[in-house]
Amino acid sequence: MTDSTWHGGAAAVVTLTFDVDAETPILAAGRRYADHLMTMSHQAYGPDVGVPRILELLAELGVPATFFVPGWVAEHRPGLAATIVERGHEVAHHSYSHRAPTSLGAAEERADFERALAVFDAQGIEIRGHRAALWEATRVTLDLIAEHGLAYDSSLMGDDRPYRLEVDGGTFVELPVHWSLDDWEQYAYLPSPQIGSVIESPRKVLEMWRAELDAMRQYRCLFNLCMHPFLTGRPSRLVALRELIEYAQSCGDVAFARCRDLAESAAADPTLLPRIPPTVTPDPGTYPD
Ligand SMILES: [Zn+2]
Repeated sequence: MTDSTWHGGAAAVVTLTFDVDAETPILAAGRRYADHLMTMSHQAYGPDVGVPRILELLAELGVPATFFVPGWVAEHRPGLAATIVERGHEVAHHSYSHRAPTSLGAAEERADFERALAVFDAQGIEIRGHRAALWEATRVTLDLIAEHGLAYDSSLMGDDRPYRLEVDGGTFVELPVHWSLDDWEQYAYLPSPQIGSVIESPRKVLEMWRAELDAMRQYRCLFNLCMHPFLTGRPSRLVALRELIEYAQSCGDVAFARCRDLAESAAADPTLLPRIPPTVTPDPGTYPD
């Protein structure tokens, strides 16, 4: 049997990913929140304060990252995507408006997806991958990814290692995510709209993520960490992230990669056979809508 190669010999591969959502998840809950200045400033903190600090930290530690940016955010902050790319990181597709694909019709989803591609194209940013808003990918999402020739998606949870997905329009790599490796469940708090109600200790979060990394080193997994600059950009959380990265570096068997580079390695791995997306067809008599 051939051995897998996607990991390049590392015990675990870390992809540090930052979803630069800024105002979009709030506006997706209602345009009226544009007049709610505390909320808007809470979200603007992400790109305005969090991202520069994160870029500095990554440069200091010498690790690459992937920034998933909604087209709306890139459009309203010209130069943001280019700055990230100039620092050696990847900018990837994170919808245009950050409305969940599961809440959109097929035509609406296509328009939103392609509008984001047009924004990045106009800014000269080459896009290789996609992450659905709220990870709520649909069959339409997967078809759009294949149709536009993207190399990977990062929204599903069917494994804890990269896998290949086959849809009608072609195949691409899935870099799976999980709720346990998302800072939203740890740090998201806003009274209105209610995006979450927790402010956990970064010490607890560090301990949890370090335990997952250690276990993933035993099972040779993808440690796909999803963070948001408006959450993880806060000081004590960034200090914990620094400790996590330094710990991973000290292990000696952990590799760091941009998602596009990992997707390329996964696509070339002969052991990763294409899988089909979940096809569950429940009987309407048993499971009403
Ligand atoms: Zn997002």
